[in-house]
Amino acid sequence: MGELVLLKNYRPDRPATIDEYRRSGGYEALTKAVLTLKPNEVVKQVKDSGLRGRGGAGFPTGIKWSGVPETAPFPRYVVPNTDEMEPGTFKDRVLVNADPHLVIEGIVLAAYAISAQRGIFFVRPSYEMDAELIERELEVARNAGYLGDRILGSEFSFDITVHRSAGRYICGEATAQINAIQGKRPHPVKGGPHMTEEGLWKRPTLVNNVETLSCVPYILRHGPDCFKGLAKSEKGAGTKLYTVSGKVCRPGCYEMPMGTPLSEIIEGPAGGMLPGAEFKACLPGGASTGFMSKEFYHTQMDFDPLKKAGQRLGTGAIIVFDRDTCLVGVTLNLIQFFVRESCGFCTPCREGLPFVLDLLQRIENGEGEESFIPMLREMASFMDHAYCAFAPGAAASVHHLLKYFMDEVQEHISRKQCPFKSGGPSVEKREE
Ligand code: SF4
Repeated sequence: MGELVLLKNYRPDRPATIDEYRRSGGYEALTKAVLTLKPNEVVKQVKDSGLRGRGGAGFPTGIKWSGVPETAPFPRYVVPNTDEMEPGTFKDRVLVNADPHLVIEGIVLAAYAISAQRGIFFVRPSYEMDAELIERELEVARNAGYLGDRILGSEFSFDITVHRSAGRYICGEATAQINAIQGKRPHPVKGGPHMTEEGLWKRPTLVNNVETLSCVPYILRHGPDCFKGLAKSEKGAGTKLYTVSGKVCRPGCYEMPMGTPLSEIIEGPAGGMLPGAEFKACLPGGASTGFMSKEFYHTQMDFDPLKKAGQRLGTGAIIVFDRDTCLVGVTLNLIQFFVRESCGFCTPCREGLPFVLDLLQRIENGEGEESFIPMLREMASFMDHAYCAFAPGAAASVHHLLKYFMDEVQEHISRKQCPFKSGGPSVEKREE
């Protein structure tokens, strides 16, 4: 499985304590940084490591951090993002519960790198127990001198509070999140100011996913090259938390080298397909990525190889479907979720998603017509021009359904029923 960066202190029954974390080298990176490195040296190491954001977008982390100008005004903020609302995505929760001090150290290092004074830990509301755990461990870190005034006797002071999200999917989007924290309506801001220059209360703000931040202590302890060398893919860096759910023997969250092929994740830690089940497709990175068919089974799970294959890594949440799963039904289910979670701010998303939902529902009910297919295609393309990335993400499954599984859609229309509910010719096809 290779060296672990994120889950090396994982225990099935409880989070690692601060002493256990320290025994594994925890807080060494922070000590080294605040006592011997300048903030821009920390930024440079993160840049050199090739770390890319693990929240879905994959933006290079060091470049994002260097977006805070040295002359920028104070106070400055860091917002660790644990607002994971997407079906199948639960890696940040696993991380927080495995090793809370790894997460805290990563946040404080990011704060040191941009000279921030305040962290606001943004947590999904249904993660209330996790929020309480973080608050407890923040106090432990404070008492140990890793948070608060003059951290470890240095000139650097920084503290973190926990903010419970209002509980909408869009609150996880960085610009919407900034609005939410300020008590405004959480709709995204298009082409707005770079938050590294103008974020919370118009001050420089770094919004980073918790998994991303948790990679930083390793980079500073072992060096950027060592981190880069952990990946399996050519341009990859570090390790990745892949969460696997669906028709596999051992669903769960697994840390693997970045760029591990999909087949190795499914057949390795996930234990292979369930007895009698045959792989048909997966969503490679959560509900806002499109279906990945069997022809991509050996693709490396990293940003660039997946992009080359016309797919997206997203959050690395792999949802596996077998040959008995109706992908029209799955797409319908996903669109139902996105209709509910749309912030309603722009027309392509607010009006387009319910229209797509209606078409899919009628196809699934056996009321579909041939004319629905170009309409579905057009509506999905229409959503690519929405105000933020939410609607294109929602449309991804529709695009891929029509691209890779058109025979399944056609069969619903020609048979006037869902073939998976009626044991029709798709069963014969499966037996071929
Ligand atoms: S695409 Fe959807 S979520 Fe994004 S701004 Fe438009 S309505 Fe809101």
